[in-house]
Amino acid sequence: MNLRIGHGYDIHRLVPGRPLVLGGVRFETDYGLDGHSDADCLTHAICDALLGAAGLPDIGHFFPNTDPAFRGIDSQILLQRVVAALAERGWRPLNLDASVIAEKPKIAPRLAEMKATLARSSGLPVDCIGLKATTNEGVGDLGRALAIAAHAVALIEKP
Ligand code: MG
Repeated sequence: MNLRIGHGYDIHRLVPGRPLVLGGVRFETDYGLDGHSDADCLTHAICDALLGAAGLPDIGHFFPNTDPAFRGIDSQILLQRVVAALAERGWRPLNLDASVIAEKPKIAPRLAEMKATLARSSGLPVDCIGLKATTNEGVGDLGRALAIAAHAVALIEKP
């Protein structure tokens, strides 16, 4: 079998007055993640895991934060484009697993919704997507809720 594994990591600062979007799901908060796109660090980490598995450059190469076309863009569109870029090269995702590190808000109640959204964007069945949320136990900048980070791994195959 022609299998590849990839890893992705992303972090965005938490700031007042921005929408908070994680895994394509909007949280009702008065703070959000700073960034050029919707700043969905979970979806960005997943994109990088998929791109890395295929030996491709990272998300910043495909969707530069200097390009006005990507200002405020829904990162689910970026994920769909990443899956399409892999498909053009003969790769398809087999599964994804990711962890979000956030001191706030409470993410666990929205995990199922996030999984369903990521499943739609990636073309994977929901049971092929692992998703966990943890805090940083008050340690460091993540623990002081200055940012939210995400790690992801992806397995892809070329049938
Ligand atoms: Mg990012």
